[in-house]
Amino acid sequence: MNIHEYQAKELLRQYKVATPDGKVAHDAEEARMITKEFGGASVVKAQIHAGGRGKGGGVKFATDPDKAAELFKAMIGMQLVTKQTGAEGRKVRTVFLSKPVDIERELYLSFLVDRVTSRITILASTEGGVEIEEVAEKTPEKIVKVAVDPALGLNGFQARQVAFALGLEGNSFKQGVVFLQNLYKLFVEKDCSMVEINPLVITKQGDVTALDAKIGFDDNGLVRHPDVLAYRDLNEEAEEEVEASKYNLNFIKLDGSIGCMVNGAGLAMATMDIIKYCGSSPANFLDVGGSATEDAVKNAFRIILQDKAVKAVLVNIFGGIMRCDIVASGIVNAAKEIGIKVPVVVRLEGTNVEEGKKILADSGLNLIVAADLKDAAEKVVASVK
Ligand code: GDP
Ligand code: MN
Repeated sequence: MNIHEYQAKELLRQYKVATPDGKVAHDAEEARMITKEFGGASVVKAQIHAGGRGKGGGVKFATDPDKAAELFKAMIGMQLVTKQTGAEGRKVRTVFLSKPVDIERELYLSFLVDRVTSRITILASTEGGVEIEEVAEKTPEKIVKVAVDPALGLNGFQARQVAFALGLEGNSFKQGVVFLQNLYKLFVEKDCSMVEINPLVITKQGDVTALDAKIGFDDNGLVRHPDVLAYRDLNEEAEEEVEASKYNLNFIKLDGSIGCMVNGAGLAMATMDIIKYCGSSPANFLDVGGSATEDAVKNAFRIILQDKAVKAVLVNIFGGIMRCDIVASGIVNAAKEIGIKVPVVVRLEGTNVEEGKKILADSGLNLIVAADLKDAAEKVVASVK
C-alpha cells in the first residue's frame, strides 16, 4: 500500500525525521492562512500517488498568501498528468502546503528491501531531485548501496558511510546520521517496503531535511498498523483492484486489451508473455489463487468484465489443487448472470479437465475452447484484431 506525501511526512515527524513544516489546506481561504503562518510564502503541492509532480505542474511556489489561494483553486480538482500517471492523469483531491526552504543541494535517499540479499538496503546519491532511474543508467557510480544486517540494525558506521557518500560535513553530517537512524527505525517498525526521499535537501543554513517523501508498506504487515491502514486512499487505487481485494483475489491493472484470468503468479507471467508474443497485450491479470471456490471464480470473472479496456478474455487455468470443473462452473454461472459481450477463450488443463470442458460445451454459451496455451493465445489475439 502507498500513501500520500503529507501522510508520509506525518510519519517522519512522528519518528523525528526532519521535514519542513507543512499542512493540508481544505479550501482557498485556509491556503491563504497557512501561507501567512509560514511567513508569507509556501510551496503548493498536489497530493496524488505518483511522482514527477514538479514537472507536471503539481508543485508550485506561492510568493504571497493571495497567490497561494489562487494556486489552491487551480490545483484542487485538476487532472494532473505526470510521467507516472499515464495520459489520463490523476484527479487532485488534496492539496498540501509546505513551508519553503532555501536549497543548497538536492540529494537522493531511499530504503528498500533487496530481495537478492533479503536485507533492507539504503540507496543514496548526490544526484537528487532528478529521476534515480536516469542516474542509475547514466552514472551508476554515483549511487551508493548499503545493506543492513537485520540482526544488527543500522550500524553507526554504516549511517556515517552513507552521510559521507552524500558529501555531508560538520553539523549537516551529524544531522544526516540521525536522519538515517530515525528513518531506519520507522522503516522497520512500520513494516515498510520502500521509503524514498527525493530530494533530501541540505538547506542554505546547513540543515538536512526531507523535501519530498514517498512510503510504501508491505500489505502483509498492515494488520499490525491500523494507523497506517487509516491512510489508505481508495481513490488512488484501481476500482477493480479494490473490488478484487474484497474477495482475496489479486487483480493487477495493465494497459492492453485482453483480460486474463489465471491461477498462480507464474502462470500469469507465462500468459502475459505469450499474449505479447502473439501480438497483443494484457489489460489486466487476475490471479484466483491455487484453491479458489466456484464463487471466487465467478467474482473474478465479473471483475475482469468490469474493466472497460477488456476487448476479449483469456481464461488460463491449470488445475492442480483447483479442479477444472469448478472453474468451468464458475465461468458458466458468471457468464449467465452477467452476460458476456466480448469473446472468451478458455484453456483448461489438469485435474478434472474433461468434466470441465463438458460443462463449457454443454453451457450453450459462446465460449471458445482452446487446445493448449499457444492455441489459446492465438485465438484470443485473433479475436481482438
Ligand atoms: P515530485 O516532482 O513529485 O517529486 O515533487 P517534489 O516534492 O520532489 O518537488 C519537486 C521539486 O520542487 C523539488 O525537487 C524541488 O526542486 C522543488 N521544491 C519543492 N519544495 C521546495 C522548496 O521548499 N524550496 C525550493 N527551493 N524548491 C522546492
Ligand atoms: Mn520528489
